[in-house]
Amino acid sequence: MRAEIVSIGTEILLGEIVDTNAAFIASQLPEFGIDLLHVSQVGDNPARLREVFARARERSELTIASGGLGPTEDDVTREAVSAVLGEEVYIDEEQRALLEQRFGHRGAALVERNMKQAWLIPSAQALPNPRGTAPGWWVERGGHVIVLMPGPPQEMTFMWEQQVAPRLEERASAILVSHTIKTASLGESQVDQMLADLLDTTNPSIGIYARRDGIHVRLSAKAPTREEAWRLIHPLAEQVRAILGPTVWGEDDDTLQAGVGRLLRDRGMTLAVMESATGGAIASAITDVAGSSDYFRGSLVTYATEAKIAHGVPAEVPLLHGVISRETAEAMAAAAREQLGADLGLGLTGIAGGDEIEGQPPGTMHIALTDGERTEYQTYAYYQGRDAAKRRATTVALDLVRRWLLGA
Ligand code: ATP
Ligand code: MG
Repeated sequence: MRAEIVSIGTEILLGEIVDTNAAFIASQLPEFGIDLLHVSQVGDNPARLREVFARARERSELTIASGGLGPTEDDVTREAVSAVLGEEVYIDEEQRALLEQRFGHRGAALVERNMKQAWLIPSAQALPNPRGTAPGWWVERGGHVIVLMPGPPQEMTFMWEQQVAPRLEERASAILVSHTIKTASLGESQVDQMLADLLDTTNPSIGIYARRDGIHVRLSAKAPTREEAWRLIHPLAEQVRAILGPTVWGEDDDTLQAGVGRLLRDRGMTLAVMESATGGAIASAITDVAGSSDYFRGSLVTYATEAKIAHGVPAEVPLLHGVISRETAEAMAAAAREQLGADLGLGLTGIAGGDEIEGQPPGTMHIALTDGERTEYQTYAYYQGRDAAKRRATTVALDLVRRWLLGA
C-alpha cells in the first residue's frame, strides 16, 4: 500500500513549529508494510489543501493528514476533504451530543463555534479524541483511505495508537516487527565486526545504529502476523545477545538510567556523583526516572578546580596530577560518596569543549567509581562537539555504574 502524509498548518511553513507529526507517522508505517512515498506540508489555505488532497488520492492508496481540525476560521481541513470528494457535510447527532456533553459546563456559545467538530460526510467515520475536542475522520471511498487527525501531537499520537493503528493492522498483508538490543561501551564498527556472520540475513534483517545512549542493534522481521514475526526474531535475538554479552544493557524502550536505577534498588544501594565536564547531565539523566530519590543522593557539579577542592577533593591531587586526570576523578568519586553519604561515589572530570587542556585532546574523560574499598576507572577520548561529548560521557559513566553493579 502506498501512503502519503499531509501536515497542515501555516505555522509549519513559517518554521514556527517543527513537523514532528510527520516524523512520528512515518516511523509507524513500516510496521504495517506501508510504503511512504510523499510527505507534504501545506498552509491553512482551502485551495491549496484541496490540491494536495486531490493529488494524494491519485497517486496513493492512503492519505494521513494532521492539523486544521480545530474550531477556528483557519481550520479548514474538513472543508477541503469534503470538496475533493464532492460530499456534503452534515452535523452528526452522535458527535453533536458528545460535543455538547464536553462543552456543557462552558456554555452554548462555545458549542456553536465548535459545531463543525460534529461534522461528518457520508464516507467518513468519526475517530474519538479523548485528549481534545476535535474528533478525527476515517474516510474510505473508491479504494482510497483518508485519515484526518488533530494537530496537537499528544492528541494525534493517542488517536493513532487507539484508532488508526488497529485499523491499519487489520488491512495489512504483512506486519513488520522490530526489536532493538541496546549496548554501551562498544563502537559501531566493533559491533559490526562482532555480528559480521549474522548480517547477511534478510528476514529478520539486522541494522546497527549509533544512538546517543550507545549502539543499537535492530532486528526486523516481516510476517503475516505479529506472532510469526516474533518467532523469526527470537532465535536471532538470542544469538545477538550471546555475542554481545554483558555490553547489552537493555532493549526496545529501556533507558540506561532506568536500568541502573533498577540495579541500585535491587541491591539496596545509593549513589552520589561529583561531575565536572558533564555539568549536571549525569544527575539530570538519573533523575529522569520516577522514584530515583530512593537510590540517588545527588550530584555536586564542581566545574572550577576550587569548587572541587571546596567539596572534598584534596588540593594536592589536581596540583600533582592535573585536573583532567585519573587521580582527580578518583578523588571526586571518593568526595561525592563521603559528602553526600552514599554507598557508591561516581566522579567525572574531562574536557567537554574544543580546546586541549593539560596536553589532552577535547573529549577526554576520566571517570571513576568507588564504594570506599574498590575503585573502578575508565578513560577515553572522543570528540564530536560539546553536546555530544557531554552525552557520551553521561552514557559511559552510567554504564560504568551498571557494569560495577552487575559484577558486585
Ligand atoms: P486545535 O483544535 O488545537 O486548533 P488543530 O487540529 O486545528 O487543533 P492545528 O491548529 O493545525 O491543529 O495545530 C494546533 C497545534 O498543534 C499547533 O499550534 C502545533 O503546536 C501543533 N501541531 C500541529 N501540526 C503539527 C505538526 N505537524 N507537528 C507538530 N506539531 C503540530
Ligand atoms: Mg487549529
